[in-house]
Amino acid sequence: MQQNLAGGNWGISQIHRWTLYKTVIEGMLAHRSSAFCLNPTFKMKRKLSSIQRPFLLHISGAYRTTSTAALQTILGIPPLHMQLQFEARFTSIYRLRIPLPPFLTDTQPHDLEMQATGWSTHPSEHLKPNQISFEDGEAYIARKDIINIFTDGLKTEHGVGAAFCVLTNDIWADQRSAKLNNNTVFQTELTALHESVIYASHLPNHNTFKIHVDNRASIMASSNSKSTNETSRKNFKILLSNPRIKVSWVKAHAGNIGNERADQQAKDATQHGQPYSHTKLPKPHIKGLLRKRMLEEWQTSWKNGDTGRKIYNIMPSVSLRPTNWIRENVIFFSQHGPFPAYLKRFHLSDSDYCSCGAIGTALHYATECIYTVSWHMRKPASNFEQEWLKRVANNLVSRQKIRGIIRFISENRDLFRPL
Ligand SMILES: [Zn+2]
Repeated sequence: MQQNLAGGNWGISQIHRWTLYKTVIEGMLAHRSSAFCLNPTFKMKRKLSSIQRPFLLHISGAYRTTSTAALQTILGIPPLHMQLQFEARFTSIYRLRIPLPPFLTDTQPHDLEMQATGWSTHPSEHLKPNQISFEDGEAYIARKDIINIFTDGLKTEHGVGAAFCVLTNDIWADQRSAKLNNNTVFQTELTALHESVIYASHLPNHNTFKIHVDNRASIMASSNSKSTNETSRKNFKILLSNPRIKVSWVKAHAGNIGNERADQQAKDATQHGQPYSHTKLPKPHIKGLLRKRMLEEWQTSWKNGDTGRKIYNIMPSVSLRPTNWIRENVIFFSQHGPFPAYLKRFHLSDSDYCSCGAIGTALHYATECIYTVSWHMRKPASNFEQEWLKRVANNLVSRQKIRGIIRFISENRDLFRPL
């Protein structure tokens, strides 16, 4: 009865069921979570847990008695109230611009990039057709009547840097660079372009400028009047009112002297550059930070919890990645399964003896029962059981054996009843 309720072969793989949960439940609830889940009460947590639990059982195929906390860790799915709290916190600081309590983050709403909304310019306003080019702009470098500017933005193990260099009449006339803070590569490329269009727009307007950018995404965003990115929109406005500033794509790492130079400047800036303060922190930064807080809170609750301790001993750390356990692994390691010892504990049987005469624990079947001898593993000394379980759980071949055992027991119930 148990295994039919809890799982069985549903014909779609576990990962599909996992994805289904992700999209259905989280999508449905995250929608209206912004206010109510910022500080969920105990009662709300319990209610949300009862909503989540059937999904966890269904995805894992575990026995109904398996603890919710264990299933969350096995599946890499945090408690629902924590997921909703995460969304609520994000909505609060990023969309509503309400600061979060200091124990969560020092980041203030005004440090964050704003998502631009509405019409930035009249839709009929377009850049001049020759203003943007995705052809490699190499040919322009030789022209003396054009001021060439090369930009680059990058991320190394030292940090994030942006730079541009100005080439006039075969002379490197100027260069600027800065060290950025916690920015994405896209944002960094965009910042380099932004600073160079500002630079160009301040120079006498009888000049024609060609800005060479090795990042197509930032050119596209900056030539799109409806871009939702704040910096892109600023770039678009400057380009719109300065038709003499042209932007051209250039192939990176192809020996282009200007591009190589900007690349080197940006690399240097990651270590020795002046801090650049105009760039706001991007959305992924605050999301990452809040996700980290959620994981910490989940970890604390897993560590201090009093259920699912058998799984805790094997998996002491929570993670957002699901383990690759199949149903039989969940059953074995939670020890909630067709074992006489389990059945007795939950009053589903009078005896905890296997028909071979020994106590029918999960470990018994994996190491010593005469009926499961073809899948046996070496029995650990009693004080090494914990280590043994951990090793078995992390070993694919051992997990395959576990699968054989659980299937065999499930298919031959009568054999394992006490005589
Ligand atoms: Zn036995």
